[in-house]
Amino acid sequence: MSKKLPAQYTGEDVIRLFSEHVDVIVVVDKNTDKYRALIRRGIFMELVEEEGDYNDLLSTLLIHLNTTSEKLPEGYQAFLPNFGTFTRKYSRRLKLVINEGEAAHIVQMMVYPLADEDAYMLIMDELDPEENEQESQTYRKVETIEKTFLFSMYIDLVEDKTGSLNISEISEENVQADLKYSDWRNMIVNVIGKDDQALFMERSDPEYLKKMFTPGRTSSFDCLMQNLEGVYIWVKLIFSRIETGNPNDYKYVFMVQNIHEEATAMFMSLKKLSDMALTDSLTGVFNRGKIETSAKNAVKNFGGQNEPLAMMIIDIDYFKSVNDEYGHATGDKTLKWFAHTITDCLKGERADIGRWGGEEFVVICHNRSLDEAVEMAERLRASVAEKPMPELKKVTCSIGVTDVRANDSFEDIFGRMDKALYAAKSSGRNRVEAG
Ligand code: GH3
Ligand code: MG
Ligand code: MG
Repeated sequence: MSKKLPAQYTGEDVIRLFSEHVDVIVVVDKNTDKYRALIRRGIFMELVEEEGDYNDLLSTLLIHLNTTSEKLPEGYQAFLPNFGTFTRKYSRRLKLVINEGEAAHIVQMMVYPLADEDAYMLIMDELDPEENEQESQTYRKVETIEKTFLFSMYIDLVEDKTGSLNISEISEENVQADLKYSDWRNMIVNVIGKDDQALFMERSDPEYLKKMFTPGRTSSFDCLMQNLEGVYIWVKLIFSRIETGNPNDYKYVFMVQNIHEEATAMFMSLKKLSDMALTDSLTGVFNRGKIETSAKNAVKNFGGQNEPLAMMIIDIDYFKSVNDEYGHATGDKTLKWFAHTITDCLKGERADIGRWGGEEFVVICHNRSLDEAVEMAERLRASVAEKPMPELKKVTCSIGVTDVRANDSFEDIFGRMDKALYAAKSSGRNRVEAG
């Protein structure tokens, strides 16, 4: 191949070289929403068809912009006609992940309007590996921002319009977008978690934004939102009013921040804390406060529920002697074993178990009549008396049972239960009595 000097190149040479190297050229017809590929090669063989729906192409590109899920979630489909509709020359870089887990491909995308106003040409070109590496480094720098800030947008409430604002770009490009803010709201609400949709509509309401935001003010709220893979994640939605110097301007920046990791970690800690606040640390069953509240609530709701309700109080027999003979530590172990045994025995029952104090436990038996609760209590008594307890002294327990009756007060119920327990104790212990 003879070497050519730059001066010897003709326009045709350059065009030929271009068409030999560029990865994708498609022409898009805005009216029919169809595209036709003039050139496609490299990684794009999988992404671009010879001919196809422009929406499908955008959908494919959007998916690969992040990961490789099969299909763009339904809620996002509504946005497709607004993404990638171009009226002017436009260029940007995309980071496409073709196969999950593999390195991203950095792609330069360019748009040129065609002579026909309703058509344009879309050129996509993967950058060479070294370029790619450099780009990756740039991306790495903004990675933390990109990771947490999923999406940002510019809003003008007076004109009722939105503009894209990509903070991972060096300059804040402000792409023209024909999407009205009011339309955007009605579309994006579909990818917000069901329980948060009302909150979203309230906080994104133009009147709310105008009233609540003085220039420069930023405010946010958290909610669940579907990502491009269709998975609901925790996000922070941030609105910030731009300070323009004109009080009649209502311009905002909107951002979506991914807070999923922190939020789930926080919810787990909260759950742990609230569990701790409700459980007895020694035995793991409900503590006194929780079982008392549950019992009071059950009594309050009784009658409205059309189902019977019973309760029992369980007291370990001669527990003092366990402590006296084997020491307090063995006493504690026995209490743990005891709670474990009755919990096990009540598996599958709608029963709440709590430590009332010392070696006394209360069980709320939902949807159980007095007779049924007595049967349950008998099962409990037997399982405690019969179960071998390695290393520990064998114990028995006495149980007082009652059912909840119309117009009962909490005191009435506990009075009957206590009396029944006393009867069980005084008639020899290791017994169940009903009252
Ligand atoms: P009765 O059959 O009449 O119920 O006899 P009892 O010995 O079980 O009853 P009493 O109320 O006289 O004693 C209860 C004992 O339970 C007293 C206390 O030392 C022990 N106890 C209460 N709470 C704990 C605890 O958290 N750990 C240990 N090891 N012992 C406890
Ligand atoms: Mg006692
Ligand atoms: Mg006792």
